[in-house]
Amino acid sequence: MRIGNLNSRLTLLTDQGAVDIEQASNGQFGSDPQAVYDRWEEFTKWAADHRDVGTSRSFAMKDLGAPAPRPRQVFAIGANYASHAAEGGIEPPESPMVFTKWPSSFTGPVGDIVLAGDTVDWEAELVAVVGKRARNVPAKRGWDYIAGLTAGQDISERTVQMKGGAVPQIGLGKSFPGFSPSGPWLVTLDEFADPGDLELSCTVNGQEMQKARTSDLVFSVPALVAELSKIVTLEPGDVIFTGTPGGVGLVRTPPVFLAPGDELITTVEGIGELRHRFVSA
Ligand code: ZN
Repeated sequence: MRIGNLNSRLTLLTDQGAVDIEQASNGQFGSDPQAVYDRWEEFTKWAADHRDVGTSRSFAMKDLGAPAPRPRQVFAIGANYASHAAEGGIEPPESPMVFTKWPSSFTGPVGDIVLAGDTVDWEAELVAVVGKRARNVPAKRGWDYIAGLTAGQDISERTVQMKGGAVPQIGLGKSFPGFSPSGPWLVTLDEFADPGDLELSCTVNGQEMQKARTSDLVFSVPALVAELSKIVTLEPGDVIFTGTPGGVGLVRTPPVFLAPGDELITTVEGIGELRHRFVSA
């Protein structure tokens, strides 16, 4: 099942097109794409019984927003691929390195992003959305707490991020407006042969910059649910940016940063792609 945010309305995206959930369910479920996660189990049961409900209509990708647009909490994980830790000159951490991206930086899968500086960088990431309140969940049950997966970018203004040296501003440097795109929709776990092994990649102006598999994550999605929920209660609809593999622009020789007119395409296998163009402030 693919769940989307079409013009800010909760939408089922089928091979035939878009089905408005509020209309198709006669109001049993509301139109708010974020609210559905609080009733995720009830919703997925209803959706399984109503696969052909409602009238499908065509839609434009540009009208899609983030599939979980207003989470209570956003977790982002640093150095979660050995390849990215190595290019940054650090060892993979023994427990997840966690920061946040504020939800005001969220945007949809297609559109323009304003360059907040001249050291703006890409970070292709798998994004997981929590489907059930989680507290002290063992890793072997971690997937049970995930509603689905989507593609994301952890866009980063490196000068702001690194300012302060030993006390960097990681969250702020990654939270300018538009710096947290996700989409194009949420894909439920049953759609994947193995949700723990998906190829992710990104290109800038057609040139491949990153390519990896999520099976290379230092802390897998279920391991992150376990590690995070030891400390924080995860709430339905919370969003986890799981980390980026090697190939970011900062550590290239010479460094490469995004410029006006650049097109960034981010792809996750079995989910889809994000297309963003960068524009000057
Ligand atoms: Zn990241």
